[in-house]
Amino acid sequence: MNVLILGSGGREHAFAYKLSESKRISKLFVAPGNAGTQEIAINVNINPTDFKAVKKIVLDNQIQMVVVGPEAPLVAGIHDFFLSDDELKNIPVIGPKKDGALLEGSKDFSKQFMQKHGIPTAKYQSFTKNNLSEGFEFLETLQPPYVLKADGLAAGKGVLILNSLEEAKSELEEMVSNQKFGEASSTVVIEEFLKGIELSVFVLTDGKSYKILPSAKDYKRIGEGDTGLNTGGMGAISPVPFADTTFIKKVEDLVVKPTIAGLQKDGIDYRGFIFIGLMNDAGNPSVVEYNVRMGDPETEVVIPRIESDLFDLFEGVANQTLDEKSFQVSSKTATTVMLVSGGYPNDYEKNKEISGFESVENSIVFHAGTSINNGKVVTNGGRVMAITSFGNTIDEALSKSYKSIDNICFDKMYFRKDIGFDLL
Ligand code: ATP
Repeated sequence: MNVLILGSGGREHAFAYKLSESKRISKLFVAPGNAGTQEIAINVNINPTDFKAVKKIVLDNQIQMVVVGPEAPLVAGIHDFFLSDDELKNIPVIGPKKDGALLEGSKDFSKQFMQKHGIPTAKYQSFTKNNLSEGFEFLETLQPPYVLKADGLAAGKGVLILNSLEEAKSELEEMVSNQKFGEASSTVVIEEFLKGIELSVFVLTDGKSYKILPSAKDYKRIGEGDTGLNTGGMGAISPVPFADTTFIKKVEDLVVKPTIAGLQKDGIDYRGFIFIGLMNDAGNPSVVEYNVRMGDPETEVVIPRIESDLFDLFEGVANQTLDEKSFQVSSKTATTVMLVSGGYPNDYEKNKEISGFESVENSIVFHAGTSINNGKVVTNGGRVMAITSFGNTIDEALSKSYKSIDNICFDKMYFRKDIGFDLL
């Protein structure tokens, strides 16, 4: 089987790493990939949202399955594109169609979905510039902090959490009337603030049955002690110690089952990953968000812990035989620490030579923003590499990741030295 993975981050390198272990795969392609995927797969330099270019790669290389990493191609309808094309319609795509991708592509849609199917989530209402004054009134009924969310995709920047009512009102106006986040904020979801500790639970589904993948906690802020600007993620830990079996059972009964059943009831044939962002408030789960793909860097700790053949699981998703597939997860803890370019998430320089990563022995080096320039591996993005390690405890895994990082170097390299410390 020839398989194509779409995307270029640490998530896609982790998929490629795991899929390359499968004896069932003959050739693995990643588009566009990075310097790490190039070692284990064939990189093809196309943009995953350029569907015509994807089609050409698929036909030229007899690709028999496409695994979609990021949300953009899903929200833009890559799965629907395949189904509507005579030459592509029998090639399975791992990832939902446009209707399912709305769970991430529209916060208003996902809140309506949760409400309709009785899934625990924060109380909310949605507003546009046409009912702005009702938005102000709704804000007055809430207690601070106020949570304002752009309805559409805003690269993780469309959520504002504000302490003052005045500020919340003026930001709401900026979002709906002055398009603070462009078209994405022409509708704004205002919701109740949820207390608790955040974590993510991942589900792989064929639309009928599902497997609950290992849970993970990520570290979003750039600074130690969870301070400073939000990033794509600076590190992750799996499993999450406070997500014990009782909590995960609650998540399964109150969130996962009604989500899968709700998709079926609404006629949404969903085949792929569901990333459930949760708040654990004194043992009770509440959904913060759905994403329709795996998280990055959570993938770099979740996927390596899966012991079963990932391709076999994907085949189960494609053929709706997931319930027949065996699913084993390592009991070890996995940790990952992200190395980023100095300046990120603001401006940063690229093209810095990276040294020392080839000699890392006790960790897996997942590349993210890397490329090859004149035969050398150089930085090519804000998040550069994720260093994943296993251990019997969080402490043991983390010390391996940090020891490995001691060997890796590039100009202005930065990483958080406190990943997982809150869980120790
Ligand atoms: P991501 O970058 O995770 O994709 P996003 O832009 O899709 O984020 P959300 O995940 O909905 O948006 O919100 C971003 C963050 O804001 C959450 O991870 C959480 O920390 C915080 N947040 C969102 N909604 C709430 C809420 N109702 N109560 C408390 N915190 C919240």
